[in-house]
Amino acid sequence: MGAEIHCPGCGKDTLLLRTPRYEGFKRTGEDLACTACGHAFASEADVPFREEKKTAVFTDADRSVVVDVFKNDPRGRLCRYCAHYVVNPFRQWCGVHRKEVEATHTCERFEPRPPPKDPLAAVTGGPKPPVL
Ligand SMILES: [Zn+2]
Repeated sequence: MGAEIHCPGCGKDTLLLRTPRYEGFKRTGEDLACTACGHAFASEADVPFREEKKTAVFTDADRSVVVDVFKNDPRGRLCRYCAHYVVNPFRQWCGVHRKEVEATHTCERFEPRPPPKDPLAAVTGGPKPPVL
């Protein structure tokens, strides 16, 4: 179906017309043109699609929702992800209850550990469980 575009030829919001292009019996590509004025686009990259930006914004919103869901996930209450959880070679320790705990315990006093200040996280795409 026609994608919505803003045509630079006629300056209107119109639809994209795709016409398969053949060389003999072999399909070599598509002709892309404005349905209103026939303005031709050299390639897909030259087509001013109207939905592109909206889609990108929606994807970003989606991503932050996923992060919030993980926060409320029962796995998110494990001692190993808690700000009060201290681990050393001899024991695993809860700073709130002043006692030994296990990484797989869950806790009423759970507080999420602040994410590590890792500049790479922004590049590689969001928070990851801390490596212990
Ligand atoms: Zn046009």
